Amino acid sequence: MAQEYIVIGSGPTGTAAASALIGKGHPVRMVDVGLRLEDERQRVVDQLARSTHDRWAPAAVEFLRKGANADSKGLALKQLFGSDFPYRDASEALRLTIPNDSLKPSFALGGLSNVWGAAVMPYNDRDLRGWPLSEADLAPHYRAVAALIPMAAERDDLAAEYPLYTERPRPARPSRQAARILEHLRGRRGRLARAGIRFGHSRIAMQTDRCRQCGLCLAGCPDALIYNSRQSLDRLRDHCGFSYESGLVVRTVEERGEHVLVRAEDTSTGAPRELRGIRCLIAAGVLSTARIVLESLGWFDRPVSMIDSQYSILPLLALRGTPGVEQEETHTLCQLYLEVGDPALSDHGLHCQLYTYNDLFKMALDKVGGGLLARMPGARAALLRRLMVAACFLHSDDSGRIEVRLERGEGGAARLVAEPTPSPRTARVVRGLARKLLRHTWDLGFVAAAPALHITAPGRSFHTGGAFPMSNRPGDADARSDVLGRPAGWRRIHLVDASVFPTIPANTITYTAMANAHRIAAATADL
Ligand SMILES: Cc1cc2nc3c(=O)[nH]c(=O)nc-3n(C[C@H](O)[C@H](O)[C@H](O)COP(=O)(O)OP(=O)(O)OC[C@H]3O[C@@H](n4cnc5c(N)ncnc54)[C@H](O)[C@@H]3O)c2cc1C
Repeated sequence: MAQEYIVIGSGPTGTAAASALIGKGHPVRMVDVGLRLEDERQRVVDQLARSTHDRWAPAAVEFLRKGANADSKGLALKQLFGSDFPYRDASEALRLTIPNDSLKPSFALGGLSNVWGAAVMPYNDRDLRGWPLSEADLAPHYRAVAALIPMAAERDDLAAEYPLYTERPRPARPSRQAARILEHLRGRRGRLARAGIRFGHSRIAMQTDRCRQCGLCLAGCPDALIYNSRQSLDRLRDHCGFSYESGLVVRTVEERGEHVLVRAEDTSTGAPRELRGIRCLIAAGVLSTARIVLESLGWFDRPVSMIDSQYSILPLLALRGTPGVEQEETHTLCQLYLEVGDPALSDHGLHCQLYTYNDLFKMALDKVGGGLLARMPGARAALLRRLMVAACFLHSDDSGRIEVRLERGEGGAARLVAEPTPSPRTARVVRGLARKLLRHTWDLGFVAAAPALHITAPGRSFHTGGAFPMSNRPGDADARSDVLGRPAGWRRIHLVDASVFPTIPANTITYTAMANAHRIAAATADL
C-alpha cells in the first residue's frame, strides 16, 4: 500500500520511529533482515526462564555463556546466549572491509540491542553544542522513549543535570561493592564536585522488579529483563496499522514524485523486491545506512566521515575489599556513573561506567602473566575483592574518526570500505583522566590502575555515527542532512539512526538516537 511509511530496521531507532508514527495514526510497514537466536539456544533460554535459579543445570548455563570472553583489554565482541547471530551475515552482505572488525553492522531482529549494555543517559544543552537542536526539542521524545523502555535509575545528584524523563524510575539494587563505593563518594561529594567529578547510580534499560540477580546479564537475561527493541516490535504488532516483514535486505531507495521506491533482495532466494511507500525512514544502523545512502545516490569513491565516542578500559582497585563477591547475587550490568568535567582535560564532559565483580573478571585475571595468577588462588581472591572496571567514553571531538567509502567492485558488486583514523587527542585526554582519578584516590575510594589503561580503536564502542550530520543549512548535494534527517536534498527519505548526529557526546548514544528517531518520525507524520 503506497500510503504506508516504510521503516527499515527493527533496532532501537527503527522501533522508536515506528512507535511515533503508529502513535500518530499512520500505517507502518517495517522491513528487516531480522535474524534470530538459533532454536537450540532459545530452547535452553526458555528452560532457564521456566525454572528457579537454584535448579539451573550448570551445563545449560555454560552453554549459554559460551563465547563470553575477556582479558585485560576488555570484553571480546559480546554475544547473546553464546551466539554471534547479532553480527551474522551483515558484514558479508555489505561487502564491508574494516580493520580488526572494530565496528560491525547487525542484521538481527532487534539489531545491536541484542547485545548492548543497556546504559542510558540523555544529552543536555552542553552536550548538544554544535547540534541544530536543544534539550527542549528532544525532551518530549526522551519522555516518549522512557515510556517504551524500562528504566532502572535513581533520583540522585545526576538528575539535576541529566533529567530522568520518567516519574517512575525503579532503581536496580547495586552490588555490595558498588554500594560501598557510592557511600564513600557521598561522604566526599563537596570535594569531588570542586574537582569536576559528579557521580550517581547507573541508568540502565532494565526491568528490575522481576530480576533474580542471577548475574548472567553479560551473557543475556533468560527472563528478557534487559531491553531489546524486539520487545517494542512485539507491542507494535498489536496495532492493525503495523506490519513487519523480515528476510529482506534493502539495497537502494529512490524518490519518485510523491512516493519512495525501496529496492530490496530476498535473503532466501536472492530475488529482487520493490516496495512503495509515502515516506521511508532508514534505521539500518550506521554502517548499513551509509551503504544504502551511498549506493542510492551513486556516491562511489566519495568518502563520508563517521564520528565516534571512543572508549577505554581502566581497571580500578577499591581501597576496601568486599569479601564474598564471587558468591554474591546481583545484576552485572553497569553499576555507577562518574561524569567528569575538567577544562584542563577537554572542553567536553567525560563519562565513566563502573562495573563491579562478574565472572569475566576472573577470566581476565586468569590470563594475567601467562596464567601466573591462576596458580595463586589467594592472591587472585584478594584482587577480586577489590577489582572494578571503568569503561571511559570520550566526546567525538576527542576521539578518532572512521572514513567510509563505497568502492566499485569487480563484477558490479560495490564494497564498503571503512578506515578508522585515530586522533592524537584521545590518548592525551584519557591518560589525563586516569591520572586525575588517581590524584583523587582518597575521595573516590579506589585506585585507578593507570598503567593498565587500554584504549580501544575507533568504532569499538559502537557509539558511532554522524556520516550525514543534521544541519540547519544543508546543501542539496552534500552529505549533511536537514533537521529531519534528509541528506542530499531528499524530501521523503529520512535517516533516523545515529547517522545524523552532528557530534557524539560521551554519555551513551542509544537513548538519544531513539529520542531523535521518535522526534523525526513524529515530525514527518505532521508534514
Ligand atoms: C556490545 C555492545 C554494547 C553496547 N552498549 C551500549 C550501551 O550500553 N548504551 C548505548 O547507548 N549503546 C550501546 N551500544 C550501541 C547500541 O547497541 C546501538 O547504538 C543501537 O543498537 C543502534 O540502534 P539502531 O536501531 O540505530 O541500529 P541497529 O541496532 O544496528 O539495528 C539495525 C536494524 O536494521 C536492520 N538492517 C540493517 N541493514 C538492513 C538492510 N540493508 N535491509 C533491511 N534491514 C536492515 C537490522 O536487521 C536491524 O534490525 C552497544 C553496542 C554493542 C555492540
